[in-house]
Amino acid sequence: MNNKTSGVVGFLGLGVMGREMARNLAEAGFTVHAFDVIPTAGDALRQFGIEIMPDIPSAVTDADIVISMLPDTPQVEEIVSGTNGLLAHPPRGKLFVDMSTIAPDATRKFSQALAAAGITMLDAPVSGGPVGAKNGTLTIMVGGEASGFAQATPFLQAMGTTLNHVGASGAGQTVKLCNQLICGINIQAICEALALARAWDIDLVQMREVLLGGSAASWMLDKLAPAMIEGDVSAGFRIDLMMKDLRLVLEAAQKHPVPLPATALVATQYQNAQAYGEGSNGNQALFKVYDRLTGQNNRN
Ligand code: NAD
Repeated sequence: MNNKTSGVVGFLGLGVMGREMARNLAEAGFTVHAFDVIPTAGDALRQFGIEIMPDIPSAVTDADIVISMLPDTPQVEEIVSGTNGLLAHPPRGKLFVDMSTIAPDATRKFSQALAAAGITMLDAPVSGGPVGAKNGTLTIMVGGEASGFAQATPFLQAMGTTLNHVGASGAGQTVKLCNQLICGINIQAICEALALARAWDIDLVQMREVLLGGSAASWMLDKLAPAMIEGDVSAGFRIDLMMKDLRLVLEAAQKHPVPLPATALVATQYQNAQAYGEGSNGNQALFKVYDRLTGQNNRN
């Protein structure tokens, strides 16, 4: 199974990210048996030869590798130790790669329980969003045993272009949480800059272009600021998911006490967005918090 174009993947979670990652695996030549709790979630994947299975056991039992892309820690716990989970229905290849963003300490606990049953678990969260998932250009941060990383690499290469083994179990999740901390604070900084510039009647479109040429340039300024300026809140990484990640960051910082004042402040801004019913909007909708704070709206 270890050459690039053969092997059976059991893929769990066919949401915004997972459906594109599963498609890339199928297009790379792997056999994909997929499952989502929403029975219709994988309908559009059948045209790529992906078989949509009725439950977890039928998706994982014949798999050389099981990959999950689920919302949060409780869903991963369910597929590890639930009645239909991997401990009860071990996959043939004894390799499980969780690519969701979840808690690092829970990851270690799952990994230990699976190791006792002879199953290797890697944590391999991603950065790059739906566009990276679609194009197979995700950045993947992997924690767990080096031998498992070597075994999973051909599969990960079908989904991402930057693969890094960053340490033992949980290390991938910790690095991902640091990524989210930086992204959240950066988004907040852009909101503040746009709000200040708007109050001083600056052309926001031009300002973004100018700043992209200097030391304030960032992925967020490049990709999210246009939607903030236009008031397009629809697409992208949801406010609810970012709030989940900031919660995981703050929980991790409580366990090994590290003060994160800026992250805590940004989390409050995200809660403000959620309180106004914007949880299913994209991250860029954080700028609407500044509409309320400033009583201004550049989109009227
Ligand atoms: P999503 O909510 O769109 O998809 C999750 C899918 O998992 C849903 O289709 C849901 O029905 C399914 N699911 C839930 N419980 C399940 C179970 N027990 N078995 C099988 N399927 C189950 O979320 P997403 O945007 O695809 O994100 C998935 C993960 O990737 C999250 O942890 C998120 O934080 C992370 N992530 C997302 C992005 C992004 O831009 N959307 C970027 C990087 C990382």
